Amino acid sequence: MDSARVLSDARPTPFWLEDPGRPEALPALVGDTTCDLLVVGGGYSGLWTALIAKERDPSLDVVLVEGNEVGWAASGRNGGFCAASLTHGFGNGLDRWPSELARLERLGAANLDGIEATLKRYGIDAEWERTGEIDVATQPHQVEELHELAEAVARHGLDITVLDADELRAEVNSPTFLGGLWDKEGVAMVHPAKLAWGLKEACLSQGVRIHEHTRATDLREYGSGTAVRTPYGRVFARRVALGTNVFPSLLKRVRPYVVPVYDYALMTEPLSDEQLASIGWHGRQGLGDSANKFHYFRLSADNRILWGGYDAVYHYGGHLRHEYDQRPETFRTLAGHFFQCFPQLEGLRFTNAWGGAIDTCSRFSAFFDTAYRGKVAYAVGYTGLGVGATRFGAEVMLDLLAGERTERTSLEMVRSKPLPFPPEPVRWAGIEITTRSLERADRNGGHRNLWLRTLDRLGLGFDS
Ligand SMILES: Cc1cc2nc3c(=O)[nH]c(=O)nc-3n(C[C@H](O)[C@H](O)[C@H](O)COP(=O)(O)OP(=O)(O)OC[C@H]3O[C@@H](n4cnc5c(N)ncnc54)[C@H](O)[C@@H]3O)c2cc1C
Repeated sequence: MDSARVLSDARPTPFWLEDPGRPEALPALVGDTTCDLLVVGGGYSGLWTALIAKERDPSLDVVLVEGNEVGWAASGRNGGFCAASLTHGFGNGLDRWPSELARLERLGAANLDGIEATLKRYGIDAEWERTGEIDVATQPHQVEELHELAEAVARHGLDITVLDADELRAEVNSPTFLGGLWDKEGVAMVHPAKLAWGLKEACLSQGVRIHEHTRATDLREYGSGTAVRTPYGRVFARRVALGTNVFPSLLKRVRPYVVPVYDYALMTEPLSDEQLASIGWHGRQGLGDSANKFHYFRLSADNRILWGGYDAVYHYGGHLRHEYDQRPETFRTLAGHFFQCFPQLEGLRFTNAWGGAIDTCSRFSAFFDTAYRGKVAYAVGYTGLGVGATRFGAEVMLDLLAGERTERTSLEMVRSKPLPFPPEPVRWAGIEITTRSLERADRNGGHRNLWLRTLDRLGLGFDS
């Protein structure tokens, strides 16, 4: 297979953002305004915060400012795996918060149900399919690891289906599949950009004032509230919620905790009926393999396959650059892996190839806090699993801004923070050694070297 040839028509744009339903941008803020709550960021974090704030108290005056367009960043270009997990997966949650994992799982399930209910309530068509997800083993040691995980999940009273190679291939037919774990309830597939645009519409319907192309450039205390500067105006807000993800936080102290990691995806042309029949996939589940450098893949509503992951790229200095969204060597690698997984689809072509930055923190799941004596809250660090968890993060930010002690804010997971990343050049070197060690572990039956075992003991890591 010539991977360059099957990519030669691929447009360098996220498939989801090409949808003709992409809404017009709303006018930028010009002049001064006041509000009860200012939300900074028009991804899922900001949109959920604004919407839930209005649902909690319809009389609240809420303004949302977005530096570019709603949903253009991670929220409009992700894989669309909307997971119940608030902890970047059960395994990570078990390692870090074993005593409260049952609560976290319950809150996460309620959060996923809450997303589904919101879509119904506002009539948002985001191609939501509650198909679940199968974690796939493609190497013998991964089969063992999946069985260990299944036992741990069962000990927590949760439901998971173990599939052997034949059962798995009856679901989705790949010669590389050796076994799998199917979480039937805990994950939904969604059209990510339509989710963001639908939430924007819902916010507007509840009276949220949204300004796009309005970057917040400065935040400070002002009287009993805050003053936020934008290119052509100012917002005087009683409270501020920051949903700015991987972008430099308006709170400098938050920046060392998050590094941008670029993740990449391909989208194929739609499969013909015969091509689809050759792989089965009647259950339309999301799939992910279980390597350290993992792939994630799923069907779109029109039966394309999104195929992403594997390389997770950190650039020295932690810069965010538009040109990093394209990485031909990664696209070629991904295309090669795609046809190893589905050789029966030989000849299929890719229509889109894109990348985006993930807000990786060293514990792989979001952290939360306030600043300026409780007037400003933030939620950040979702590390590649924020499609569902950002709604939970929005609730936490609103609890914190209200000064309320809730079940959410009393969680150890919410009260604690990850370890920050060291400054450069140690940061780059550490990430580089970790990435190479993870690659080596994938090649060596999962064996973790001394470096990885030391990081494990310190509760530190690098993931996407
Ligand atoms: C390629 C890729 C694949 C992924 N796949 C999945 C997946 O399948 N499942 C999953 O759960 N997660 C996935 N993720 C992660 C997921 O997309 C994110 O966790 C989630 O979208 C985060 O939402 P957010 O609102 O916090 O961030 P964003 O969507 O990045 O939104 C932040 C917004 O804030 C704006 N902003 C920043 N600073 C300012 C400022 N100063 N003033 C005004 N506006 C500002 C930005 O312009 C941006 O629009 C993926 C991410 C990528 C990049």
